[in-house]
Amino acid sequence: MTAKSYFIETWGCQMNDLDSQRIAGQLKLRGYRQAASENEASLILLNTCSIREKSEQKVFSRLGVLKEAKERGARIGVAGCVAQQEGARILERAPYVDFVLGTGNVGTLDDVLEGRTRVAIDFPEAREYDYLAIERPSATRAQITVIEGCNKNCTFCIVPTTRGREISRPFRHLVAETIHAVSTGRSEIELLGQTVNAYRCPESGQTFADLLKAIATTPGVARLRFMTSHPAEVSDEMIEAMRLHSNICRFLHLPVQSGSSAVLRRMKRLYTRERYLETIERIREAIPGTGFSTDLIVGFPGETDDDFEQTLSLMKQVRFGSLYAFKYSPRPGTPALRLKDEVPAEVANARLHRLFALQEEIQRETLDSYVGRTLEVMYEAPSRNDPTEFAGKTDDNWTVNFTGLSAVAPGMLIPVRITQAQHYTLRGEAVA
Ligand code: SAM
Repeated sequence: MTAKSYFIETWGCQMNDLDSQRIAGQLKLRGYRQAASENEASLILLNTCSIREKSEQKVFSRLGVLKEAKERGARIGVAGCVAQQEGARILERAPYVDFVLGTGNVGTLDDVLEGRTRVAIDFPEAREYDYLAIERPSATRAQITVIEGCNKNCTFCIVPTTRGREISRPFRHLVAETIHAVSTGRSEIELLGQTVNAYRCPESGQTFADLLKAIATTPGVARLRFMTSHPAEVSDEMIEAMRLHSNICRFLHLPVQSGSSAVLRRMKRLYTRERYLETIERIREAIPGTGFSTDLIVGFPGETDDDFEQTLSLMKQVRFGSLYAFKYSPRPGTPALRLKDEVPAEVANARLHRLFALQEEIQRETLDSYVGRTLEVMYEAPSRNDPTEFAGKTDDNWTVNFTGLSAVAPGMLIPVRITQAQHYTLRGEAVA
């Protein structure tokens, strides 16, 4: 074990990834080095996710294993959404844990590191956010949080509890962070938030569309992505900003959750099936070729066979390039716990199975349709499977492994002719 070295294990969404990058950066400023494994670390942090059930059990079983590390003198911290949700209960069940760091306190580590506080789970009004101290793992991409928390209160979702009420960061800080990220070679910017397009500057009232325009026109920004957009917050101004700036990616992650308006109403998603489809149509009309991905929940209380058929029919209509689908998982304190007509597990499993089979078909056809086309690929790093090949991403978020160049610098945009569609990725050759 090296004095002052850290190991962070991250579960969950992009927000958790970025929180880990923020924690790692602050630890480095305090003299910690990154350890190669948990066995060599003097500080082990679990950055946890609680979006679906069993997350607490998973944390406690992981902590059980880490008890050994504690015996050799390491300190153990629990961060993220389970930390926020369980707070002091973590110390009751695992008293050898040194501290619990909630999502609102990621910017202020000193109190827990120096032992002044063991449980930091409040949501301070003024939150520290030192973007200069973010340990960004990618040489080409910088993720930037624009809005924390969520005010939507979907009946199934624990995010309002684990990440608090919405709070947007000042516009000028986001522009400054972008300029800094570009100056360190990151030409792809990804704006993050649970409901990123609900952004509103607390100082000036500038909107998400204003932010898109400002970041897209910042010199050196070759690509601009953002996630997660809420369908009810997609405005004409946001679509217009995407249309006007060709460096804003033609790709949107737009979680629909269900294709049935009756289910969407019980989920309190604030849109209907028709309104969602109309939003997709508006975007495709303004910006042809835009790719979409989504999130879906099956087996939400009261979901009938007909409701589920409507989800399948919506998938056929939109033809999402990719999607994440989950079986409904009851979360503590959420309003959906009071809903009746639980869907039996075997029915939910069978639906999930059918949904994935349909998506596989759609995805195969989508990927096949790229063969023969030349796409602009941002080179990121050598391919994971074959380091003699290059790997990068298209504008609409597909990974492309390609050959045909002797050398290439990360961040370069390369025209690549697609020669083959694989299961989830594309292969191609750089065009001279
Ligand atoms: N804030 C985003 C939104 O409103 O669409 C995404 C939040 S969450 C981190 C990512 C996905 O997890 C959700 O879009 C939803 O599909 C899924 N999810 C959230 N709560 C769930 C639950 N209780 N059971 C199953 N899936 C859930």
